[in-house]
Amino acid sequence: MENEGAGRGLFEFLHPYLAALWKDTPVAMEVMHLGSVNEFRFSLNGECPHCKRQCSFMPVDGAHVELAEGKLTSRGVCAMQCQGCRNFILGFVLYDGKTVASMRYEKHYPLGKPNDEVGPDIPVEVASGFQEAIRCQWVNCFVATVLMCRRSLQISCDREQAKGDDLCRQVDSLAKSGTITEPLRKMAHRIRLFGKQGAHGDYSDIDSTITEEDAVDAIAFMRHYLEHVYVLPAKLRPYSK
Ligand SMILES: [Zn+2]
Repeated sequence: MENEGAGRGLFEFLHPYLAALWKDTPVAMEVMHLGSVNEFRFSLNGECPHCKRQCSFMPVDGAHVELAEGKLTSRGVCAMQCQGCRNFILGFVLYDGKTVASMRYEKHYPLGKPNDEVGPDIPVEVASGFQEAIRCQWVNCFVATVLMCRRSLQISCDREQAKGDDLCRQVDSLAKSGTITEPLRKMAHRIRLFGKQGAHGDYSDIDSTITEEDAVDAIAFMRHYLEHVYVLPAKLRPYSK
């Protein structure tokens, strides 16, 4: 039982489906070189932290250029304007000044904030732990992300009156009663084990055992779990009368 759900296959299988159900947090922008090769000029494309749309950002002035990364590359910092809402961002880009293909996006400010909205059908006490997990992932706190996912799962199991005196038995109880499917049961056990590792394991080893990928998987699992246990049943309720 302890090793159930340890494989990664289910998560990889589900990711494409989950992406259609939930909006992802903003990711890195695409950079495009402008002008001649020796010019440090660029535009950016990506989600605007102000208007939340996919937009282009054009430079409003020349970039401030400084040496970066062992002085082999330069960093250009430039005030840029969203072509959708006309608000401004500060774009950071790296470039060797020789080949256009070497230009790459580094970061931008403001970063915006994570989309931690959840549907109204998810009980507040379950949703709040999951929302905190999303915010933890946003600031790269991966152990905390997994622990908050586990906490949200635990609160949900209690709320759904899953039988058993520990999370392991409660998850199996939810599967037995038909509240969750067999793939979800296996995934829940994996989250349960991760959370256990973080909460009660060897603390000196936590950072190396729970990775960014685990945090991404835990968030993906919780989204699927909440969709299955709360959102879809609420949507189908009118048809079951
Ligand atoms: Zn905008």
